[in-house]
Amino acid sequence: MIAYGRQDITQADIDAVLEVLRSDFLTQGPMVPRFEQAVASRVDAKHAVAVNSATSALHIACLALQLGPGDLLWTVPNTFVASANCGRYCGAEVDFVDIDTYTWNLSVPKLRNKLVQAKKDGRLPKVLVPVHFAGQPTEQEEIWELAEEYGCRVLEDASHSIGASRNGEPVGSCRWSDITVFSFHPVKIITSGEGGIALTKDAELAERMAMLRTHGITRNSARLLGNGTTNTQKSSPRPAEIDPWYYEQQMLGFNYRMTDMQAALGSSQLDRLDSYVKRRNALARRYDESLKGLPLQLPTVQSQNQSAFHLYVVRLKRNATEKSHRQVCHELRQKGIGVNLHYLPVHLQPYYRELGFLQGQYPVAEAHGESAITLPLYPALSDQQQDQVVSMLKEVL
Ligand SMILES: *Cc1c(COP(=O)(O)O)cnc(C)c1O
Repeated sequence: MIAYGRQDITQADIDAVLEVLRSDFLTQGPMVPRFEQAVASRVDAKHAVAVNSATSALHIACLALQLGPGDLLWTVPNTFVASANCGRYCGAEVDFVDIDTYTWNLSVPKLRNKLVQAKKDGRLPKVLVPVHFAGQPTEQEEIWELAEEYGCRVLEDASHSIGASRNGEPVGSCRWSDITVFSFHPVKIITSGEGGIALTKDAELAERMAMLRTHGITRNSARLLGNGTTNTQKSSPRPAEIDPWYYEQQMLGFNYRMTDMQAALGSSQLDRLDSYVKRRNALARRYDESLKGLPLQLPTVQSQNQSAFHLYVVRLKRNATEKSHRQVCHELRQKGIGVNLHYLPVHLQPYYRELGFLQGQYPVAEAHGESAITLPLYPALSDQQQDQVVSMLKEVL
């Protein structure tokens, strides 16, 4: 079976991980800050906080933005469930904005209309989570402008789009958002096994996320309160230079730490980010060429965007074949092509239906979910394998 995505592991990656295994620190060593620095400098971000998954990064990002019970988070239905679940973890309510017919990303006109109505209703969202679907950047400058107008914070779920850019601005710089998150799951652009990172230009948000990642603990002398002591009289703060064992838990955090093995793998993979994105784009162009003339809607990349092409998603045109979408997908899998669906709309998941969401609420995302087919795309996919995918697709259609 040719999978829809898979990791690419080189000897350099293996050596980097082995080196950590032979070192003094498997976790909380030097590799995590080194990886954070490398990612931040690659995408022009000021601060980076690496964690054990993008899901954890989204969670601590929402907490750092002070999302809580009574608040609202808006995202799109055409995403992985984690983009919405992060709001639920914080006790907030989640709602959705439908997607655009061509980019399959958040529709800015629909966002604008929904904000106008929400303001009238006194129910404006605290956090917006646009998602860079398939690696294509969202219309982030416009989303940011609306967020400023309506007083929302913006958290970009860029799990698909490390290495992408818009108007030359790298995704992750947070020029048009408060926080941006990447995922390093093995199917994503680069991997650390499991892993994620949150980027921000705001030092206070970065510090809060760093504390939330590790139990709410700080050793930063500028932040110490000085009352974490057994002495009855309040002592002055004792920074690590004086009492190296002293730390304070100041909020309720988690153990969301990334290990040094993961950070070493991530750093080694980051060295190949440019070549990965280049190969993904070259394969996407080959698909564009060879799928012309089939009853498919091909992905469109806006001219100001450079996509990371995490996924190559096509849509089966309605009534173009007598076979149903499901039938086409099943037949392709029978022929060894591991097609997938990105995404079954989040609001139609049983958990979200239980919260009251209904079929018909987000028609563009629903039509997408009924027609999308994710074709195999990853850097190690050979031209010959890709040709095989195309010929099977032609046969089935
Ligand atoms: C993969 C993914 C996530 C979650 O990433 P993990 O690192 O697996 O937690 C979140 N959002 C989107 C859009 C994703 O594709």
